[in-house]
Amino acid sequence: AAKNGGNEAVVYDPAIDKSSQESLSLLSELRRAAEENQFRLYVQPKVMLGTGEVVGIEALVRWVHPERGMVFPDNFIPFAEKTGFIRTLTRWVIEQSAALCSQLEASDIKLRVSVNLSTRDLLDQELPAKFAAVLARHALAPSSFCLEITESAIMDDPVRAQQTLEGLHAMGVDLSIDDFGTGYSSLAYLKRLPVHELKIDKSFVLKMENDPDDAKIVRSTIDLGHNMGLKVVAEGIETLGAWELLAAMGCDQGQGYFIGKPMPAEQFADWLQRWKS
Ligand code: C2E
Ligand code: CA
Ligand code: CA
Ligand code: CA
Repeated sequence: AAKNGGNEAVVYDPAIDKSSQESLSLLSELRRAAEENQFRLYVQPKVMLGTGEVVGIEALVRWVHPERGMVFPDNFIPFAEKTGFIRTLTRWVIEQSAALCSQLEASDIKLRVSVNLSTRDLLDQELPAKFAAVLARHALAPSSFCLEITESAIMDDPVRAQQTLEGLHAMGVDLSIDDFGTGYSSLAYLKRLPVHELKIDKSFVLKMENDPDDAKIVRSTIDLGHNMGLKVVAEGIETLGAWELLAAMGCDQGQGYFIGKPMPAEQFADWLQRWKS
């Protein structure tokens, strides 16, 4: 049972679950999902807003449950975090992403893969070493990866999070602050952490065409990021209008349904072919 070194303590939390019985069974379902290959790697393209060139993909996990069908991450990631199962899942996502990346490189497609990390991953001091082992096994440069971290994940234990991030940075992996503007305001951390990229949360981008306040927040965030020497990425681009507005504001890269929805990893090469033609 202690397959993962006993990391998965079951925490009874009435606030998130109806009963401890139910959370125990969800945890065993997640473990079975891992054993029976029910997780799927989905990817969403990331483009240069100036040229439309595809420069990266974000890895997003899906759970194809035998009875419930497609389960979206918002419905199991928080629970996976609570129980520590997220470490198993994160390792799976990193492994799958590395496999995809080296497969794409073999077809001369050079892209950066972004992987989401959560709070528990940042407290895992072995993560940099484990990650380095995956890179070596797939003969990938650390710069083929970007790790996305939310502000709230950092705020949970800033000292340990910083240690892990410094370790990853020292390896040469790029770091991105995800959902920027939604968490606690942590401009001080932005200054102190070795981040390369700032991702404007989709809640602002989705409304920026109709709400002048959101447009101002987006513009100021782009300027803030640039003033700090960071690359700025917008997520949630659903219209040509949003793309054009962001490009005019100088935003570097973008991601969203207008460009491409998250798709099964094995469909990405075909999608890219169509995007280019
Ligand atoms: P996120 O990291 O902020 O990922 C972006 C989410 O926005 C994705 O939802 C994506 O499908 C969605 N999205 C992208 N473009 C658009 C758009 O134009 N319009 C709208 N309305 N939505 C858009 P998804 O895949 O459901 O993932 C939700 C969250 O679950 C992610 O938010 C991330 O926090 C978490 N997550 C997903 N995969 C993983 C994973 O492998 N590990 C961890 N730790 N978290 C993950
Ligand atoms: Ca993300
Ligand atoms: Ca985000
Ligand atoms: Ca999010």
